[in-house]
Amino acid sequence: MKDSRQPTRRAAPADGSPAPGHVHLIGAGPGDPDLLTLRALRLIQSADVVVHDRLVADEILACIPARTRRVAVGKAAGFHPVPQERINEILVELGRAGLTVARLKGGDPTIFGRGGEEFAALTAAGIPCDYTPGITAAQGAAAVLRLPLTHRRWSTGLRYVTGHRARGAPLDLDWASLADPRTTLAVYMGAANMAEIATRLIAHGMPADLPVLAVSQASTPRERHLRGDLGSIAGMVRDNPMPAPMLFLIGHVAALAEDADPPVSVPAPAELRVPHG
Ligand code: SAH
Repeated sequence: MKDSRQPTRRAAPADGSPAPGHVHLIGAGPGDPDLLTLRALRLIQSADVVVHDRLVADEILACIPARTRRVAVGKAAGFHPVPQERINEILVELGRAGLTVARLKGGDPTIFGRGGEEFAALTAAGIPCDYTPGITAAQGAAAVLRLPLTHRRWSTGLRYVTGHRARGAPLDLDWASLADPRTTLAVYMGAANMAEIATRLIAHGMPADLPVLAVSQASTPRERHLRGDLGSIAGMVRDNPMPAPMLFLIGHVAALAEDADPPVSVPAPAELRVPHG
């Protein structure tokens, strides 16, 4: 079986340029470094360069060795975001230079966040690349709030839904199919459009009193949340703004949420001994 931690090095091209490196598209999880996978941590600690976006929490960035080059490509207050096409180019350039690149993305690299576009650009350029899964924000939020995302009695499925469309395009979701109170909806990137999302779901038959949680910065020490229902949540978030990133969990399981105990004391990442081999 191929070991994804041992990327195959390609032969150097005949024109004398270096053999391509390898780009790992890595899920950094929702924020808590304890929620990194061992593979993610190893790759972060052994990469020549780490490319990260704004969703990667400071606690995770603290795991990058001081000697490792960092490239920040994400949007942050006061900075212009690097356009996706340019991010793709940066990854290709670093790969062409023969470097091992840890491309850190918040949550899981295959769930929103445009990981597929980066993968396609790298593959088209002949740069070896792969995915390392991460814990997606909905799972991080569920753990913090101690609720199951599915439940034998209350929820037979889970859908990851975007609440945002590219460049101001209308939110043309399949409302009729989403309006199933027995499927939990995890709405990502929905903060700006929650009023419309709730109104449409109710118009398509979802009960206005269906429980909803809005969770901000899940799994970090800055986590905050609001409990409401479909009819009330948009107004609650408007009146009590919470910082990004924020997601919504819609469905009966949201009623099972419990406020967490004080966080369990765990060793700081630097003290973790990660087994190798
Ligand atoms: N790949 C990421 C999602 C990227 S889209 C993942 O798997 O989690 C960005 C959206 O993810 C944000 O708008 C927000 O809805 C959600 N998100 C990411 N991290 C979060 C966190 N720690 N708490 C709450 N929502 C989060």
